[in-house]
This record gives sequence, structure tokens and C-alpha cells, in this order.
Amino acid sequence: MSFLTPSFLHLNQEDYQHVYEPAEDTFLMMDALEKDADFLRARRPLLCVEVGSGSGALITFLASIIGSLTHYIATDINPMAAQCTSQTAKQNGVKVSCVVTDLVEGLIPNIFGKVDVLIFNPPYVVTASDEVGSHSIEASWAGGDRGREVMDRLFPFVSTLLSNTGCFYLVTVAENKPDEVISMLESQGLCGEVLMKRKAGRERLSILKFTKD
Ligand code: SAM
Repeated sequence: MSFLTPSFLHLNQEDYQHVYEPAEDTFLMMDALEKDADFLRARRPLLCVEVGSGSGALITFLASIIGSLTHYIATDINPMAAQCTSQTAKQNGVKVSCVVTDLVEGLIPNIFGKVDVLIFNPPYVVTASDEVGSHSIEASWAGGDRGREVMDRLFPFVSTLLSNTGCFYLVTVAENKPDEVISMLESQGLCGEVLMKRKAGRERLSILKFTKD
């Protein structure tokens, strides 16, 4: 099954000075979601959440796979990203609730145990720790020590957020030590695997997938 990449015609280079432009990491996650389309649809998800939605490419693509009976929520720390996500959803005829917040802070505890699909393409680039924590374009890539400082803060919540049939998709690069990430989340009772891998320039990207069952 193949699904159309969302239209981004409403976004321009001026927007991409402030908001992450879809890139190889974004497209690898789309390929992984497309590969898992039957799995995702069979679970009949009621709630899908994307953390760090940027342009809105991924949550909009996910909505095109799963359909309009599901509720979609996107968060971003960058208010301009939340605006772009909202526009991308509208432009592509899907409904997404956009929340400006740190990770999932503004949504908890309400969504505990209710998230059927959770996706995160985090800032994964290894940088100095003092580059982490911006609310603008730098937040797209600055991952601090091992590129893990932002994603590591979400991990303690993942198992609690997911419903019993919930699943979590995460973009990583080799520097993030994906095997260590899998072990960390497995110690919370999740089952982890590398769903897809791709080399893009110097980046060795992987999509990790976690389930509860
Ligand atoms: N999901 C988009 C994509 O795949 O093209 C954007 C991915 S970009 C690599 C990472 C996104 O995470 C950026 O939009 C950034 O603003 C957002 N972000 C960074 N730190 C965050 C945080 N603490 N809470 C929420 N969003 C965050």
C-alpha cells in the first residue's frame, strides 16, 4: 500500500528558517509508518500523538494512513512549528490538535494509558549541552550529550502513556546508541526492535519501534 506525501506548498523558505524542513529522517519515519500501515490500521487506534511535530509532515501522513475516526494531537516546544503543523493538517484535510508544550507536559496525566500510536523524531544531533533547550529552530537538532538529552526525558513516560495495544516509533542515529535505547525501554516492559535503517550522508538513521505486547 502506498500513501501520498502531504503537500507542503503553503510553507516556504521563510517558514523553514524557523521550523524544521522535512528531511531524510522525516522521510524514513514516513517509510516506516507506511511499511506498518496494515499493523497500524488493524489496531484501530483512537488516539495518536506526535511529540515535536515541526512542519506537521508526520502526523499528517499518519492521519492519511489511519483515517479520520482517530484523534490526533501534536506537540512542539516551538510555537511557530505548532502553527505550521496546524496549517499542514488543514491544507491536507486532516484534523490535528496542536499544543505548544515541552514533550507531553501539557497533556499529562489526561492521556496516560490512552495513546495508541506515539511518534517522535527528536533533536538527535550530538551538541554541547548548553545548546539544548531553545524554543526556536535550534530545538530541531540540538540533542546535547550523545544526542540523547531531549529523548531521554520522554522515555520514563512512554510505557505509562501507551494504551495496552499502544506502540511507539522513534528516530535515532548511531551516536544515540539505539541498542541502549531499546534496552532502556525494554526494562520498562516494552518490546523493542529496529524497524528500518538508512544511511543519509553522514547520518546512520534507524527507526525504533516499541510495543507493549
Ligand atoms: N517531526 C518533524 C519531522 O519529522 O520533520 C520535526 C522533527 S525535528 C528533528 C524535532 C522537532 O522537535 C522540532 O520541531 C523541535 O522544535 C521539536 N522539539 C525539540 N525539543 C522539544 C521538546 N522538548 N518538546 C517538544 N518538542 C520539541
